[in-house]
Amino acid sequence: MALDSKIPNGPISDKWTDYKNHINLVNPANKRNIDVIVVGTGLAGGSAAATLAELGYNVKAFCFQDSPRRAHSIAAQGGINAAKNYQGDGDSTFRLFYDTVKGGDYRSREANVHRLAEVSANIIDQCVAQGVPFARDYGGLLDNRSFGGVLVSRTFYAKGQTGQQLLLGAYSAMNRQIGRGKIKMYNRHEMLDLVKVDGKARGIIARNLVTGEIERHSAHAVVIASGGYGNVFFLSTNAMGSNVTAAWKIHKKGAFFANPCYTQIHPTCIPVSGDHQSKLTLMSESLRNDGRIWVPKKLEDAQAIREGKLKPTQLAEEDRDYYLERRYPSFGNLVPRDVASRAAKERCDAGFGVNKTGEAVYLDFASAIQRYGKEQAKIKHLDENDADLVKQLGTEVVANKYGNLFQMYDKIVDENPYQTPMMIYPAVHYTMGGTWVDYNLQTTIPGCFSIGESNFSDHGANRLGASALMQGLADGYFVLPYTIGDYLSADIRTGKISIDLPEFEEAEKNVKNQIDALLSTNGTKPVDYFHKRLGKIMWDKVGMARNEQGLKEAQEEIAQIREEFYKDVLIPGTADSFNPELAKALRVADFLELGELFAKDALHRNESCGGHFREEYQTEDGEAMRDDENFAYVAAWEYKGNPSDAVLHKEDLKFENVKLVQRSYK
Ligand SMILES: Cc1cc2nc3c(=O)[nH]c(=O)nc-3n(C[C@H](O)[C@H](O)[C@H](O)COP(=O)(O)OP(=O)(O)OC[C@H]3O[C@@H](n4cnc5c(N)ncnc54)[C@H](O)[C@@H]3O)c2cc1C
Repeated sequence: MALDSKIPNGPISDKWTDYKNHINLVNPANKRNIDVIVVGTGLAGGSAAATLAELGYNVKAFCFQDSPRRAHSIAAQGGINAAKNYQGDGDSTFRLFYDTVKGGDYRSREANVHRLAEVSANIIDQCVAQGVPFARDYGGLLDNRSFGGVLVSRTFYAKGQTGQQLLLGAYSAMNRQIGRGKIKMYNRHEMLDLVKVDGKARGIIARNLVTGEIERHSAHAVVIASGGYGNVFFLSTNAMGSNVTAAWKIHKKGAFFANPCYTQIHPTCIPVSGDHQSKLTLMSESLRNDGRIWVPKKLEDAQAIREGKLKPTQLAEEDRDYYLERRYPSFGNLVPRDVASRAAKERCDAGFGVNKTGEAVYLDFASAIQRYGKEQAKIKHLDENDADLVKQLGTEVVANKYGNLFQMYDKIVDENPYQTPMMIYPAVHYTMGGTWVDYNLQTTIPGCFSIGESNFSDHGANRLGASALMQGLADGYFVLPYTIGDYLSADIRTGKISIDLPEFEEAEKNVKNQIDALLSTNGTKPVDYFHKRLGKIMWDKVGMARNEQGLKEAQEEIAQIREEFYKDVLIPGTADSFNPELAKALRVADFLELGELFAKDALHRNESCGGHFREEYQTEDGEAMRDDENFAYVAAWEYKGNPSDAVLHKEDLKFENVKLVQRSYK
């Protein structure tokens, strides 16, 4: 089936303007008769819920945490992009658009990305108006820094807590609407199914996580803003609760799932320390503004470091290999994440890793401390040849910029990163794949929309740093509130949707049956046992590098674990009480299906692009080798009962404004 992405004809800017006019299709009085469910109140869902309520719709918002303030978005550290050109370094809407399409390795939809670039500047204005405390420069203007894959400074930030501050902004906007009665907030509620009536999304089945009660909720449209599915790998930088369930349930009800194999492995995370771990920690990409990445040049030095016989600070400058600066002289340490991650893996695979397991490289701030220290000494008319003073002044500057990240590293690793380089290694971080949506952000189910990280829309095969918050807030504040009006204009006279319809009854029964079946398994292994096994297969065979044989094995092994899970999982407690193990089991059940589709998608894509690296398809110097002739499309999978039976639909990608070329950051 050819997918209709509903992209209107005409030059790019006009497409967006056209769509803004759809707001007129629903006048304010009519919106009072229309209910919208928003599943998820992170940055995407929270901003959407607040804006929809402001426009006049009746919103019911759901999250599984005890407050929207605890959504995973709060973890975002480094910043949010916008083409404001405050630095006068030549930024523009087109440049942000171009960087994003190129950064995604030419696997995203041009029109969506351009719209994103167009609204990016509005997001900053909106957030400043809400009181988000973005960093400012000495003169009081908003400051910017650089992120990977770009040569301009367009990243707005609030120290290392950008997500938290932005989320507080969205949450305040939501609270205003909760106070007005326009948003009804359902905390600690988990959506477990979508209800379709006459083919349209008309409600959800949710479980109250505190009481265990199964509830029916109806609406004229359902918006999924449930975040990404990186936790299919078990270990990731995502919040522990992040999961695929909402997106997977709509997939099972007819929403196509696009590019599931496009995953981002972030190059700067604290390395895995052992089997006991359940979470990995990101060291923000902003650190690559000042940190230099290196490994020893000689194998014997790497070995001596691993054995604790040599300290990194003892290694002479000429014995260090700043491999990103060597391989990519123009972007250096600021190459995109997929490129930086693969380069780290390449060095570690070649034996140059610097921690006990050989899976770590250095991120070193010594040069930055020197540079800033000398500058400060000059500014303060102090002695720039006083080594101790320079170090102290430089450390203060670095602490001002990244203090909370350094503190976090120190607490976790128990090493002072001001004095010795940080050790970092790539880890699963973000999922570019997700539910397929058209230009209006509507899935293949009429009335069911998907926004933020849960959809696939804007980042192609690799997301650039600081672009996820931009997309989530673009979708929530500026895009969905317009485009949903187009759909809802047909519902002005529909009236309330009854929750007594047989479709609600059936969906509720299915959810209850699934819960009963899981609880009555009464097996011998806890949920995490299966999740960890799944994660290991995903990392080893579907992770940073993939090949045909490994992917085939992964599909079989995941299907096998799924079978075992349903025979042998042990879930203590009952259905009608607070039961976190049951909630986890329901999520892992979906991960076990998604994982297989993920591998199937990676296997079918016989090319390398962005975060999808097939070992069989690489250039002579180890870069991703795309096949534009055969794979310049979005792979959208239709559910057919078993992940292995999923049917592929293609949305061809047309590039009218950006020329398809081999990505180069040299
Ligand atoms: C450590 C870290 C740092 C990051 N830093 C940056 C950064 O600096 N800049 C940047 O641009 N991006 C960053 N990202 C990425 C970015 O944080 C996320 O992509 C973004 O926050 C996702 O927002 P969201 O609203 O789509 O989803 P989330 O914030 O994940 O919110 C999901 C919401 O859905 C709800 N939910 C999920 N499933 C259900 C269900 N079944 N029923 C009910 N509710 C449900 C949750 O309760 C939650 O409210 C970072 C990511 C990580 C992991």
